[in-house]
Amino acid sequence: MKKELGIYIHIPFCTSRCPYCDFYSNAGCREDEISRYAAAVAAQLVQWSRMCGEYAVDTVYFGGGTPTLLSLRDFGLLMDALGGHYDIEPGAEISCECNTADAEYLRGLRSLGVNRLSIGAQSLDDDELRELGRVHNSADFVRTYNDAREAGFDNISADLMLGIPCQSRESLHMTLERLCALKPEHVSAYCLRIEESTPFGKAVGRLPLPPEDDIAEMYLGTIKFLAGQEIEQYEISNFARAGYECRHNLKYWNCDEYLGFGASAHSFFGSERFSCPRSLERYLGGEYIAGRTKPSPADLETEYVMLAMRRTAGLVADEYVGRFGVDPHEKYRGRFSEFVRRGLVTADMSGYRFTPRGMLVSNTVLSSILDL
Ligand code: SF4
Repeated sequence: MKKELGIYIHIPFCTSRCPYCDFYSNAGCREDEISRYAAAVAAQLVQWSRMCGEYAVDTVYFGGGTPTLLSLRDFGLLMDALGGHYDIEPGAEISCECNTADAEYLRGLRSLGVNRLSIGAQSLDDDELRELGRVHNSADFVRTYNDAREAGFDNISADLMLGIPCQSRESLHMTLERLCALKPEHVSAYCLRIEESTPFGKAVGRLPLPPEDDIAEMYLGTIKFLAGQEIEQYEISNFARAGYECRHNLKYWNCDEYLGFGASAHSFFGSERFSCPRSLERYLGGEYIAGRTKPSPADLETEYVMLAMRRTAGLVADEYVGRFGVDPHEKYRGRFSEFVRRGLVTADMSGYRFTPRGMLVSNTVLSSILDL
């Protein structure tokens, strides 16, 4: 039986740069430059397919950047490279990130085989979207969402952001109500992180950011609100109706294998981690691997605990025994006990998982128990 593999394809182009973003992406590129990049990704797909004979692909994820800046022709080129050189499982989840797109484009994507759309709403409050420097407004999001439904997408996710400058608990509540009225299958809700290298990072003292306590309340309120809509949390920042959890992203948190294609894309394959160069020039020059490491068994164990604990399922004892051959309670019972006492972690024979309040401080807790 073949092993399962996820494929990530990075499209590093955006219409303009959002001032908080530190993803690898380039603004203002011409259509012919984007087409040249798509041809290079198709070539990498063909070349790396030679090491994938024992694998069946069950998820594909087009991320960015803004993948919908690819023309439908270039999108088709990548789908052909996938279909022609990989064993794509029937029923594979094929996701594409999107900011705004028109109805014709969305129909084209759907007919190429994309079956899951992840739309970057961020907020449905136009003042907050302006604060974030987004080029779309809430009406653009709703139009794209409705057009996607009409194009036949029955698996739609929306990204939201918590902690936006000028955001309040009330404005977030309004965003959640408007979003849930559209009945999305999946919601991602990320807390805004201010990265030093970004324009937001340089202006951090002048940004009207909500107080930390309010952001914590927004996070806990989001978990509760979405649960009331039958959109249950399954990872720190991700929520889904039953059966609509993102199968591709679960691979990252389950430490399953995936290959990343395109500039800056990361892979975990054959017990090695490697990444493509974070440079268009180098990538277009045919350089596919900029860094490669083979994690030690101890590193793999640490990574597993860090990633598994992001899930609401947490560190599952049986899963841990299957991977590492030892009982996790011997190592972790004592280390988690203080956090169990403080109500940040729950523990039983089946494993360990964060409570919603624990998820707010998960990095601090994990640094402590993993001696990072
Ligand atoms: S559209 Fe997304 S990837 Fe592009 S700059 Fe904005 S946040 Fe970053």
